Amino acid sequence: MQNQNMLIGGVETPSAGGTTFVVTAPASGEVLGTVPRAGAKDVDRAVTAAARGFDAWFRLRPAEREAALLRAAALVAQEGQARFLDTLIDESGSTITKARGEIAYTVDLLRTAAGEARRLYGETFPNDDPHRISMVFREPLGVVGVVSPYNAPLSLLTKMCAFPLAAGNSLVIKPSEETPLTALAFGRLLLDAGVPPEAVNVITGFGGECGAELVNHPRVRCIALTGSTATGIAVGQAGLNKMRRMQLELGGKSALLVLRDADPQQAAKIAAQGIFTHSGQICMANSRIVVEREIYQPFITALKAEAEALHLGDLRDERTIYGPLINGRAVEKVLEHVSEAVAGGAQLLTGGEVLHGLVVKPTVLLNPPRESRAWREESFGPVASVVAVENLEQAIEVANDCDYGLSAAVLTNNLQWGFHAARRIASGAVHIGMHAFQSNALAPIGGVGLSGLGRSGGHYSTEEFTEMKWISADVGSLPR
Ligand code: NAD
Repeated sequence: MQNQNMLIGGVETPSAGGTTFVVTAPASGEVLGTVPRAGAKDVDRAVTAAARGFDAWFRLRPAEREAALLRAAALVAQEGQARFLDTLIDESGSTITKARGEIAYTVDLLRTAAGEARRLYGETFPNDDPHRISMVFREPLGVVGVVSPYNAPLSLLTKMCAFPLAAGNSLVIKPSEETPLTALAFGRLLLDAGVPPEAVNVITGFGGECGAELVNHPRVRCIALTGSTATGIAVGQAGLNKMRRMQLELGGKSALLVLRDADPQQAAKIAAQGIFTHSGQICMANSRIVVEREIYQPFITALKAEAEALHLGDLRDERTIYGPLINGRAVEKVLEHVSEAVAGGAQLLTGGEVLHGLVVKPTVLLNPPRESRAWREESFGPVASVVAVENLEQAIEVANDCDYGLSAAVLTNNLQWGFHAARRIASGAVHIGMHAFQSNALAPIGGVGLSGLGRSGGHYSTEEFTEMKWISADVGSLPR
């Protein structure tokens, strides 16, 4: 049982009101600990500290910011298992494989961001007056409010923090109420790595309470939110009222196209990985599978076999593919989506029920109605919907009949078909020969439509978390 405090100005801090809330393990229901339930006063304290921390952090030389982020990467590489592994498994219901993957990606992200600290490149541009010089500087924004989700509570949080820090911003982190322990451990690690205590602050609490207070605080210059589209719209509207810079990484309903030349067995294996990893609680999960009719039958036979063969056991068993959904509401939503689709005429190929606790069986729906929530909305669970199409053009049309556009994928051996589809699918990313759930610390991750605004990763994040400033000088004529 861990009863933890928030991190404000480098000091372990209870909430001003003394209130706390309980963190439970989705796999066992066991109480893992309590954390403070932050309110307006706590947000104000954290933002005030971060405003001071901004001065301390931005004044450091780029090489010093780079060194601090590299020390953080080294700490995760050396101590990541001890600091994060159990918490990731217990708090977010990650399998040991997914937790190790998050830790490895965290090292990669911190190293990549460290390099960005030296790359706040500017520009010059010509002026018709030969005596004038015009330059564009990139400057950090100030205090960035980081509001993070539960599904990848370490690696996504790292991505949301490391790049703004590299650019010289300070942070107030508000993690998901489901996963505050991971975020507090990450905050402590950044301080251990030498980031000035006031530059990184972690408050714990609920979205509608301290999250909304953070978005509205007058000294916050930017909100970076990764979460659902509904939250993104609410936060985006509040942020726009205050003219905040906003980076919104939201939901997805990714399409996987299986073209007629693909090997059905291999395609089914890839499709299953792309939807069932972490119980489908992945923004890029390929929950819509669009298959050319020529291989539809062998593909669905293979996908059913893949789904039914998945090992769903102890989270610390390396064979386990996935564990529980995060809470009871998530299970209810998934089952509702499935039963509504079936009532509308979909065929339930496999799954569609709870295995035990919060674990939902791998589920495959055939031909759900186009207007059903299972087809149009994010179920955020282990549910794949499969439809057959006549040809590539129809596959692209079906993929694009969607309000989201985060990631997509095309399984084919024909690169011409692959690129043709990739160029025409409305999506922040399209992957050929792979499933839709792909990461790369240098890639511009983000989406179109209801999947959000902005991009994160590599220098794309640097652009998001800096402001351009035009500075010009009249250098006059040469002295005689
Ligand atoms: P969520 O929207 O419920 O919560 C995300 C965060 O927003 C939490 O910290 C929450 O407390 C906070 N929040 C909620 N309401 C708020 C408000 N009114 N003001 C301020 N903060 C508020 O999302 P979740 O359930 O934690 O995460 C799953 C969602 O995140 C899925 O929709 C998934 O697709 C999305 N996601 C997107 C990406 C991406 O890269 N695009 C990555 C991971 C997850």
